[in-house]
Amino acid sequence: MKNIFIYTNKSEASESCARDLAEKLKAENFTVQSEFSDSTEFVCVVGGDGTLMHAMRDCGYPATPFVGINTGHLGFYQEFHPQDLDELVGIIISGDYNVQSHRLLTADVKLAGGDVRSYQALTDVVFRGSMSKVTHLRLAIGDSFIENFSGDGIIVASSAGSTAYNYSLGGSIVDPRVSLLQITPIAPMNNKTFRSFTSSLLVPPGLDVHIYPEAGFTKSGYLIVDGEEYFFEDVEDVAIDLSEQTVNIVRLAGYDFWAKVKSKFL
Ligand code: NAP
Ligand code: MN
Repeated sequence: MKNIFIYTNKSEASESCARDLAEKLKAENFTVQSEFSDSTEFVCVVGGDGTLMHAMRDCGYPATPFVGINTGHLGFYQEFHPQDLDELVGIIISGDYNVQSHRLLTADVKLAGGDVRSYQALTDVVFRGSMSKVTHLRLAIGDSFIENFSGDGIIVASSAGSTAYNYSLGGSIVDPRVSLLQITPIAPMNNKTFRSFTSSLLVPPGLDVHIYPEAGFTKSGYLIVDGEEYFFEDVEDVAIDLSEQTVNIVRLAGYDFWAKVKSKFL
């Protein structure tokens, strides 16, 4: 392996860490690239979980291994700290690491008039209305209509994203060796007029989850993919699934998902 791209967020700590890492890699005769390209063989991401998601998106979700160096807050996707750069360079040279594969979420937004906008995400897809109003949505799973939902919105998380927003909403933590979509309601209303599921629904990939504005209410809404927000005026349907395309996160030889959960959450 020769070509390594370093992606960093704009914090001073990250930029200084990225400079140190570039020096150490060059000293071992690696080529440090300032942009991702087809020749990139390995990506080092300096920042937090949010930065890792942004890096994957900016690079176009390639199959190239991504390793995280945590200068963020939680660092669920990261295996290294800025003080571990020698160890990082060591495993890049030796190849002594595993890659954890994650299938990507896909979201296709169909607009009135027929246009379809497509997005990918590692962690989660949210569809919601404005902050100050109730959103009325319909939820279908595969060919089955499930419910009229009233509340703030609906999130669909991958297993990789189960520990993020999904978890804050009372959703379940899912071992990433299980590929599924977790549909979790955001502040569902439950009274004699509106009734929706209050727990998460777990569905296998391949079924196609559909969320769309209920007739008679506003058709506008926000699609939020991995924290990136898009506003649409006239939504017919949002179709969400897992694709076959995977991204790869570098994990140390001793990595254990449940040990990581314990260390970050308990
Ligand atoms: P942000 O507001 O800067 O950070 C969101 C927080 O979520 C950060 O602490 C981040 O960790 C953490 N996070 C991201 N992915 C995670 C994962 N797989 N497991 C555990 N924690 C994770 O926004 P951002 O950095 O652009 O990230 C967007 C994500 O924020 C969304 O995908 C959504 O899941 C999450 N979010 C959470 C809430 C909530 O919990 N109430 C609300 C909105 C959005 P780092 O500190 O390492 O970056
Ligand atoms: Mn962040």
